[in-house]
Amino acid sequence: MSNLNETYEDPKKLANDYVHEVYSLIKKRNPGEVEFLQATREIFDSLRPVFSKNPHYIRDGILERITEPDRIITFRVAWEDDQGKVHVNRGYRVQFNSDLGPYKGGIRFHPSVNTSIMKFLAFEQIFKNSLTGQPIGAGKGGSDFDPKNKSEREIMRFVQSFMTELSKYIGPDLDVPAGDIGVGRREVEYMSGQYNRLHGGHKAGVFTGKDPNYGGSLGRKEATGYGTIYFAEEMLRVNDLSFKGSRVIVSGSGNVSIYAMEKAIELGAKVVACSDSSGYIYDENGINVETVKLLKEEGNKRIKEYKKFHSSAKYFDECTGIWSINCDIALPCATQNEIDEAAAHKLVNNNVKAIAEGANMPCTKEAIDLFVENGILFAPAKAANAGGVAVSAMEMSQNSMRLNWTFDEVDEKLKQVMHEIFQSCLSASKEYGHPGNLIVGANIAGFLKVADAMIAHGIR
Ligand code: GLU
Repeated sequence: MSNLNETYEDPKKLANDYVHEVYSLIKKRNPGEVEFLQATREIFDSLRPVFSKNPHYIRDGILERITEPDRIITFRVAWEDDQGKVHVNRGYRVQFNSDLGPYKGGIRFHPSVNTSIMKFLAFEQIFKNSLTGQPIGAGKGGSDFDPKNKSEREIMRFVQSFMTELSKYIGPDLDVPAGDIGVGRREVEYMSGQYNRLHGGHKAGVFTGKDPNYGGSLGRKEATGYGTIYFAEEMLRVNDLSFKGSRVIVSGSGNVSIYAMEKAIELGAKVVACSDSSGYIYDENGINVETVKLLKEEGNKRIKEYKKFHSSAKYFDECTGIWSINCDIALPCATQNEIDEAAAHKLVNNNVKAIAEGANMPCTKEAIDLFVENGILFAPAKAANAGGVAVSAMEMSQNSMRLNWTFDEVDEKLKQVMHEIFQSCLSASKEYGHPGNLIVGANIAGFLKVADAMIAHGIR
């Protein structure tokens, strides 16, 4: 900003001009990166009051710096299928920010993976990881590889090829990957195996989300879903609501979704629907999570097959219809932009009381605006799904100390972390003039810690 002194007199205008100027800049620098621009815009909108109160962030060019990744690594991943045919996919690792600790974030295998998606996810991770209060920076990686309909051996060969290249850029003090969509415990173990093969010996703490039998943390598998419910429960409690007796919809049927359902049911909710990428099931008697686990964790089956076990359930093709079901609480736990404006309208018309985002950026900007306008409680992903990465950081601690905490110890720590995240979002929302708006609160609370670290570490 050239005229910093002049505009000091009108801090609000200074902040608006700054945000506007930097947003135009990054729009020009990242053409066509729809998801990345969507994620940055949401943050920018929240940060105006921060810049008018603290113009020194403008002087230090924090917004220009925080939106440009430290580096992006892309590489070829060639692998051979069971028929001997060679395939080529693209691998990515976005190392976005390391001011709070080693780069930390998951690996996603999904055909939709591209630079924009990787950058949006790594960018979100900066604020999410900061909110956890743990010493972790932010990164994300993955590939456009589609694990659907691949044999176990094909997946193993793909992961080995992927890790042969990525292994040069990661390590316990440098960058610690974990799972995400399409990457679970099995894939993390294949990654870990290949990394150790290449580096010799057995290095602890290079990955998180490992099998608890081989260095993983108990409670990591459950952490994202449980954490989302712990956070949502805090939000409900301060508004005199609770999961007890409420009707809940949970999209997805992967790791986040399964454990969100499990915890919500434990707290007395009735989960009436869940989905996968092909369609959704609806059961007025309540979804049986054990059946979903059987299909998804053990069977690699489609959710459609749930009907075979429970005759009261109905199956519908296409997942968007799930949001037209009547509910008190909606938990989007599948993927980005799964609730658009039309879906949000349906939820609002059905008198939904609260939304908590288990997936990363599952609601579009238009959907969020609609929820906020209608006074619906909203728990944003950065805060609500931070439990997964928080327990990943606990896994790193356990690996460093070479000891294992019990499930209850981890779960207790997770509860405490989610409580603290909620409190810091709430107090930031109050301090910066948007009391109770947890979107603004999460963005500001997550930002401040990283911004201060960036200033402490000097300009680069
Ligand atoms: N992929 C998860 C997330 O979006 C977890 C990342 C991790 O544990 O490092 O936060």
